[in-house]
Amino acid sequence: MSKLNGKVAIVTGGGGVLGGNISKSLVEDGVKVIVLDIRQENIDKRVDELKSLGDISGYTCNVLDIESLNGVKDKIMKKWGKIDILVNAAGGNLPGATLDEEQSIFDMKISDLNRVIDLNMYGSVYPCLVFGKAMAEQEYGSIINISSMATYSAITRVPGYSMAKTAINIFTQWMAMEMSLKYSDKIRVNAIAPGFFIGDQNRGVLINPDGSYTGRSLRVLAHTPMKRFGDITELNGIVKFLCSDEASFITGAVIPVDGGFSSFSGV
Ligand code: NAD
Repeated sequence: MSKLNGKVAIVTGGGGVLGGNISKSLVEDGVKVIVLDIRQENIDKRVDELKSLGDISGYTCNVLDIESLNGVKDKIMKKWGKIDILVNAAGGNLPGATLDEEQSIFDMKISDLNRVIDLNMYGSVYPCLVFGKAMAEQEYGSIINISSMATYSAITRVPGYSMAKTAINIFTQWMAMEMSLKYSDKIRVNAIAPGFFIGDQNRGVLINPDGSYTGRSLRVLAHTPMKRFGDITELNGIVKFLCSDEASFITGAVIPVDGGFSSFSGV
């Protein structure tokens, strides 16, 4: 039996590509997974896909709306009585906030900049505050945020996303410190920094309509020693490890899962 069997996990953005796959792997290990997503159709799809494998349910919820998050927390605490795991996978680039090859940073609309920063920064900070409070009260829990390669060095076209994900790194460290210093060493906060995986939010910039790789994809692959994109299942091992007691002395870490992208100078 898995060491995670019987734990209760919230996966924000669980209707999406990476959050969905993480949800699947947790369900397969006997975790009771609650998917939160702003899009009801994404939740329905995920619950339908996973219900034969184990305990999966979902709530529609906007991670940028504290009231919506508090409402969901109350329902979860009433039904399951605890929150062991929070994976913050809601996020991603937004069309208006991704510059075209011809645009410069001065073409970015401030409203788009704000939207992408809100989603990728506050969209993880708010769930940490709401569900982390339940963890502080129960004195245990594991939070996993999702950072990005866009925090190690500058990646063209995505300034707001890069700023927000970099904020997630320091927030992860800060929240980790706060939970251990003020509450319990059994509340751990870590992040994973995925390399390049094909998701709904980045498919358009990585894959041409005819299915071939874009120039950007080819540049990513040239900078990745493993010379390939990640398979979505390749995040599952680290997520399950960080959620488990085997990671009991690991907090505040940001762990790359990137085929070597962040280690390689490109030379
Ligand atoms: P995705 O677009 O497939 O999934 C994101 C999910 O979040 C969607 O189901 C969407 O409906 C949901 N969502 C969006 N806004 C929300 C909101 N306000 N409230 C609740 N749910 C909301 O994206 P993905 O590729 O699975 O990425 C998941 C996370 O991983 C994101 O934070 C992304 O930035 C990060 N990431 C992805 C990659 C990659 O290569 N795919 C690389 C690094 C980091």
